[in-house]
Amino acid sequence: MRWTQTLIPTLKEAPSDAEITSHKLLLRAGLIRKLAGGVYTFLPLGLRALRKIEQIIREEMNRAGAIEVLMPALQPKEIWEQSGRAETASAVLFKVKDGSNREWFLSPTAEEVITTLAANEINSYRQLPKNFYQISVKFRDEIRPRFGLMRAKEFIMKDAYSFDTTDDASMVSYRKMYDAYKRIFDRCGVQNFPVEADTGVIGGNYSHEFMVPAATGENDVVFCEACGYAANIEKATSGIPKTAAREIGAPIEKFATPGVVTIEALTKAPSSVPANRQIKTLIYIADSKPVIILIRGDDQLNEAKLAGVVGTPVFRAATAEEIFAALGAHPGSLGAVGVKNISVFADERLRGANDMTTGANEDGFHFKQVSIERDIVVTKWCDLRTVTAGEPCVKCAKPLKLRRAIEVGHVFKLGTKYSEKFNATYLDVDGSRKPCVMGCYGIGVTRTLQAVIEHCNDADGIVWPLSVAPYQVCITPLAVTADSAAMKLAEKIYAELTAQGVEVILDDRDERPGVKFKDADLVGFPIRVSIGEKSLAKGEVEIKPRGGAVAAVKMDEAVARVLALIKG
Ligand code: ATP
Ligand code: MG
Repeated sequence: MRWTQTLIPTLKEAPSDAEITSHKLLLRAGLIRKLAGGVYTFLPLGLRALRKIEQIIREEMNRAGAIEVLMPALQPKEIWEQSGRAETASAVLFKVKDGSNREWFLSPTAEEVITTLAANEINSYRQLPKNFYQISVKFRDEIRPRFGLMRAKEFIMKDAYSFDTTDDASMVSYRKMYDAYKRIFDRCGVQNFPVEADTGVIGGNYSHEFMVPAATGENDVVFCEACGYAANIEKATSGIPKTAAREIGAPIEKFATPGVVTIEALTKAPSSVPANRQIKTLIYIADSKPVIILIRGDDQLNEAKLAGVVGTPVFRAATAEEIFAALGAHPGSLGAVGVKNISVFADERLRGANDMTTGANEDGFHFKQVSIERDIVVTKWCDLRTVTAGEPCVKCAKPLKLRRAIEVGHVFKLGTKYSEKFNATYLDVDGSRKPCVMGCYGIGVTRTLQAVIEHCNDADGIVWPLSVAPYQVCITPLAVTADSAAMKLAEKIYAELTAQGVEVILDDRDERPGVKFKDADLVGFPIRVSIGEKSLAKGEVEIKPRGGAVAAVKMDEAVARVLALIKG
């Protein structure tokens, strides 16, 4: 490809709304352009890199035995009602109406479609296992689209869905995807690691997210360097000890705390109750009903864990009015002592705790000497707190660390949640009919592209891994008239490399060398071959790996040298 023939609109400065390095580079290197917030056009170079990633994904999915299909982006509302997600996923669904007022949703993912297909097409154990995948445009009405392709309203996802006869067989399919994901992200040239992930409302223990470490990532990951434990903060647990028990005996005592409405204020004189001897009481509304959450005063509630406990992602913190209606007091004086008719979910760390202080459900009063198991009716004990750095690892007790990361992929064991709802069953060997056991597996293809850039760059621009670079080689003749010696040699090397299957761009622009070199570095081609008068006079060209040193090479050896660099 010739530079003048394609469109590579590089920019000196990134538009002001680009906040993170990779977003700036996507725009500056002329890979994408914004149409609207969260909606982008891929320009020729961006598209080439994207297709490379798609191809890697395809090869590894095929290698793992998955089969490619293409499902519609336009999905009838009815199948979403059948799965129950018309309501639970409502916030992210793009809803459209056709001319006859029929409602459709634009696909954010495709469990409903594939399970409908499986219900019709899969009938016998002989047809299983099956793993269907597609690479297609997805739509999500993200409230805060940001960071370019990272969180877009329209993006490309690879989604796959496995169907198996049994739980054990489903685990085999899961493992295959897990291994394929590792290969995919390794081949894309990014550092990546799997972490245990939250299974939220669907439940079950099997879910991993594939993370690319990055300070700009939107996920907090807890990990242990000693034993390798790694989990999303939404799921992570630690070996932190329970609240130390003290002698039970003294009955509850109410005491006045005028104007004290925070954990922090109660730690001060005259009350002087340390945060770790306080019970924090939070009220949420789930399924239109209030629920009480109890965690220790010095802990933070983890809302992802709460979603799993209440069994719906549709919940919210109660308003002051709702709280008053439920408990007869305002935030700051709330507690669960003596509360009946409202579910109380208490964090495990409080189990067995006594001599605790909590609100008395009377403004300006607290209770002390509370023994949680004696004085509070707990509906369910659960893990609700957020792990913090330095806590002992749940597996090996060494101190845990925290880091930020980008979620590029997600593997998930679904069980029979969807197959039961859609009647996706198979006839077993013994003639009985059973629901297929499913798994689902996503990769954010466009997000992965950006994660590669976020991970592979320097002060001059992108430093593409060879596997996903839009072109592997950029030839930069410093004189471009057709009869110049530099251009003639450039054309020759271009033709020879192209014949060898190398992807080459020839910078035939009539620009100053400085401009050409800057652009080549900004776009990040892995290898640059520059041909200038001075080195030509010595019968040489210059070959420079991106981020490496320039080497003078005899012009006859240039092609072989480039090929050797590509083969590594
Ligand atoms: P997130 O937590 O980042 O919102 P998710 O957990 O909702 O993502 P999944 O449903 O697991 O996403 O989707 C599979 C993959 O699709 C994710 O791992 C991610 O790489 C990608 N993805 C999800 N939402 C977006 C988005 N708005 N823009 C770009 N990629 C996305
Ligand atoms: Mg996910």
